[in-house]
Amino acid sequence: MSRFFSEKHKSLVPYVPGEQPKDTQYIKLNTNESPYPPSPKAIEEAEKAAKRLMLYSDPECTPLHEALAKLLGAEKDEVLATNGSDEILNFAFMAFCDENHPAAFPDITYGFYPVFAEINHIPYTEIPLRDDFTINVDDYVGIGKNIFIANPNAPTGIALPLSDIERIVASNPDNVVVIDEAYVDFGTESAVGLTKKYDNLLVTQTFSKSRSMAGARLGFGVGCKELIRDLNTIKYSTNPYNVNSMTMASGVGCLNDEDYTKANCQSIIKAREYAVTELKKLGFEMTDSKANFIFARHGRLSGEDIYTLLRKKGILVRHFTKDKISEYNRITIGTMEQMETLVKTLAEILEEN
Ligand code: PMP
Repeated sequence: MSRFFSEKHKSLVPYVPGEQPKDTQYIKLNTNESPYPPSPKAIEEAEKAAKRLMLYSDPECTPLHEALAKLLGAEKDEVLATNGSDEILNFAFMAFCDENHPAAFPDITYGFYPVFAEINHIPYTEIPLRDDFTINVDDYVGIGKNIFIANPNAPTGIALPLSDIERIVASNPDNVVVIDEAYVDFGTESAVGLTKKYDNLLVTQTFSKSRSMAGARLGFGVGCKELIRDLNTIKYSTNPYNVNSMTMASGVGCLNDEDYTKANCQSIIKAREYAVTELKKLGFEMTDSKANFIFARHGRLSGEDIYTLLRKKGILVRHFTKDKISEYNRITIGTMEQMETLVKTLAEILEEN
């Protein structure tokens, strides 16, 4: 820390992203990326946009907002594209939370929520999940706080039905409820339709997972015009060109190739089901994940040992040290071939240890 670092940030503990190794060739199952390349249409549009990089990107993201609105059955001014969904989540903390409007989210969830709360000096409550890692919806009904829920949740993969989401949104009419749908395309019902009915609901999604564009950094939010206008106030007060032109163009290309995205999601769901069945046979316990990852533990080996032994054998998974989940590993679903290697490697590890 330099002697110049502001006092107000001295206690900040930054978010730690999953490893992006540069040395050995790992089977990379640690950051929930897609194993499939971006749509050829996305790549083609990015290439075309590269030739216009001397110009600033369109701050209104017009073609992208139009394409998103069409996909979501929304109006253009009910969507906002951002630099990854991380950015719109941060915007939501900045726009809607303060000392009098604290935040609430589960104690086990996306690790960036407390960091966004801290950097913006927002008081927050971490509401414990049940022992089986499910969310107790009653804990959120009428709590009068701004609520952030990942659905499905991370790193558990457990999803809430839409009726529960609606109960939370309807019972907190004077607070904003943010539903983070980063993993929604792998088998969860989206709450986007509810944004027509509730002016306090913001739904966020990303191109990083189902759309194979994590490196492009593209996310978006959907909500009523007024919520989106507030988020735009934050955007235009921080970085009006938050979505670069290559990303914007490739996003439009990707949205013009929905069949490609849907087919990849189906392959990932199939590979997830295969992995769950096979890991159960090896004695692993897992949550009922509806995401592109599974969350698994084994009674005989610790979470950390499994992480280390897999790593030695060339497979990277994500291990969290937080007490309640330290026996688990979050394992991204890759191709069927990668899942077969994972199962084979775990079987070897169990035999050798
Ligand atoms: N929400 C959740 C639950 C996530 O796991 C992630 C990915 N780390 C994000 C949001 C942010 O993803 P991105 O910024 O790549 O859209």
